[in-house]
Amino acid sequence: LKSLLKDPSLLETRAYINGEWVETGATFDVKNPARGDVIATVQDVSRAQTEACIADAEAAMKPWAALTAKERANTLRRWFELMIENADDLAAILTAEMGKPLAEAKGEIMYGASFVEWFAEEAKRVYGETIPGHQPDKRIMVLKQPIGVVGSITPWNFPNAMITRKAAPALAAGCTFVARPATETPLSALAMAALAERAGIPAGVFNVIPATDAAGIGQEFCENFAVRKLTFTGSTNVGRILMRQAADQVMKCSMELGGNAPFIVFDDADLDAAVEGAMICKFRNNGQTCVCANRIYVQASVYDTFAEKLAAAVAKLNVGDGMEDGITTGPLITPAAVAKVEEHLADATSKGATLLSGGKAHALGGTFYEPTIVTDVTQEMQVATDETFGPLAPLFKFDDVDDVIAMANDTIYGLASYFYAKDLSRVYKVAEALEYGMVGVNTGVISTEVAPFGGVKQSGLGREGSHHGIEEYLEMKYICMSV
Ligand code: ADP
Repeated sequence: LKSLLKDPSLLETRAYINGEWVETGATFDVKNPARGDVIATVQDVSRAQTEACIADAEAAMKPWAALTAKERANTLRRWFELMIENADDLAAILTAEMGKPLAEAKGEIMYGASFVEWFAEEAKRVYGETIPGHQPDKRIMVLKQPIGVVGSITPWNFPNAMITRKAAPALAAGCTFVARPATETPLSALAMAALAERAGIPAGVFNVIPATDAAGIGQEFCENFAVRKLTFTGSTNVGRILMRQAADQVMKCSMELGGNAPFIVFDDADLDAAVEGAMICKFRNNGQTCVCANRIYVQASVYDTFAEKLAAAVAKLNVGDGMEDGITTGPLITPAAVAKVEEHLADATSKGATLLSGGKAHALGGTFYEPTIVTDVTQEMQVATDETFGPLAPLFKFDDVDDVIAMANDTIYGLASYFYAKDLSRVYKVAEALEYGMVGVNTGVISTEVAPFGGVKQSGLGREGSHHGIEEYLEMKYICMSV
């Protein structure tokens, strides 16, 4: 991997704590999911070392928060520019540890960097308020102040962007940040730390602690009084555990959890556009995103045509090592991820679903899996309630608009949803009725730094991106003055 990089020093394996590159006395291996080989041996940070890191972040907080917003903005801007300048290397590191095709990895780097650019700008717009007093002598002012040290836990599916979406608004607000990346993908986070150092982000402000003891670090974040905010992206189950733990300290939490996105194709939809949207929405990152279409509902009169067109598009996917040219679809992250796809498929076919494409491990072996479509899927099958997180597209058939809205909403999740339709009153009705934090209408791509990303129901709490995103890292203070 080092030989592929223009700047090999970005392949960092030490922890980044308080501005120092640290050897911790323990290590763990990072594997390339496409080839199974070990690409790096990374320093493993313990819970006790995390406690020390939090103390450093606490000490770094006052001077960082005391800078003018413009000073913080300029440093963040520099960090953003360095990410763009080093995008090719960051993408190569990301593909090597995570498996997504290089072009997609580059897309993630640009997307991830866009949050740093955006929040560098937003840093300067943390406006307070004045409120007309409630008595003749009273003057009321509302300040917004950084909440404190932030503990962050992120997953492997977007090793760069899941961190920038949290770190950029936190740093912009004046908080300091301790990032615990997923064990599978610490290298992207460490490369970002190397660039943070070069950008002049002061020691202790942005720390990266690769660690295998996820549960221990999670407990430390929740039990350490210096940490005032926990930001998490991952499964709903782990989110629940962390919220329970955070309750003891009444800690503020942002939770970006699981989804079970419906993707609805109505009979008045542009079917080619719907197929294109479904391809991106279902097969991007090999189905491993929390906003991936999990259930595809197609109106009866266009069901067969849509299925045919989707199968033709799926046949063009090119599965392989993401480092190679022309690959559209990488491996799954782990054997467990493959097992989940297989379980959902076996459950569906045993209950009457029909296999249209794929349906087995890919000839390449490892964790490669054939992009798969099943038809005749019903609400009784596991795919209806459970996030597959893999390349399995289940096609459900529906007749009635109200029925499909009810089916789409029949889930504990509420992150992303999508539908394709042209009739304006139908578009409004469905967009308003879907119980989701995000609705894509005639598009399968909704993520952008300018809009609030997040879920309702058990998909989470809080929003990332947009001018709302920085509020997650600010507290309001109201000052009442008698004059
Ligand atoms: P995913 O399916 O994306 O891996 P998880 O919720 O299992 O979702 O993992 C998301 C992140 O949470 C990962 O970095 C993982 O290591 C971490 N994690 C898993 N269990 C815990 C826990 N009990 N406490 C804190 N973090 C955890």
